[in-house]
Amino acid sequence: MERLTAPDLLERVIAGNARWAAGDTERDLLGAPADPLEHLPPVAVIGCSDARVPPAAVLGAAAGAIFTVRLPGQYVDIPVASALGFAMTALDTRLAIVLAHEDCRAVHAAYEEYTTGEPPNLALAPLTGALAAGLYRAGGATGADEAIDVNARVTAQALITECPSLRKSIVDGDAQLCVLRYSPRTRLVTVLEERVVPHAGVL
Ligand SMILES: [Zn+2]
Repeated sequence: MERLTAPDLLERVIAGNARWAAGDTERDLLGAPADPLEHLPPVAVIGCSDARVPPAAVLGAAAGAIFTVRLPGQYVDIPVASALGFAMTALDTRLAIVLAHEDCRAVHAAYEEYTTGEPPNLALAPLTGALAAGLYRAGGATGADEAIDVNARVTAQALITECPSLRKSIVDGDAQLCVLRYSPRTRLVTVLEERVVPHAGVL
């Protein structure tokens, strides 16, 4: 079994996304075991619940290759961070991807709440309120579309803050955290941040 490095894994999922966008159904195991009884996913995705953005599919990955945690707006709380920590410490996961996407209704709702003070959907208010607070702490955004990218970077920083095993693996040089933005229109991802590193003082 090949053990791909984090940069190699990123290259492979970008290639996998290009296949998905082209309608090619080939799926990459990314060096994960082909045995369905083993669970050693080299990649973890922290993504949005949006049904148009199934992480393994849009990244052209096979079953067994990607550990996935999803909440609307790829919101990160302590249980989400601990799920990633589990993957980093127990499953030999080396590449963590924040998978944001264009036309994210959760982030648009959070941006509306940030600008008006009113949650547009009361059912989702506990979550959009937290996302709106993240936009506020990050200095805001000039529009709903920019809020997608701001929120994606907030997600990455929340993971750095809340997931000590991710911080340690990044500092040790074994792991990488990146931020991608997916477009439902083109079906392609854009790399927003290839390598997110802990700020000095966070460790
Ligand atoms: Zn979304």
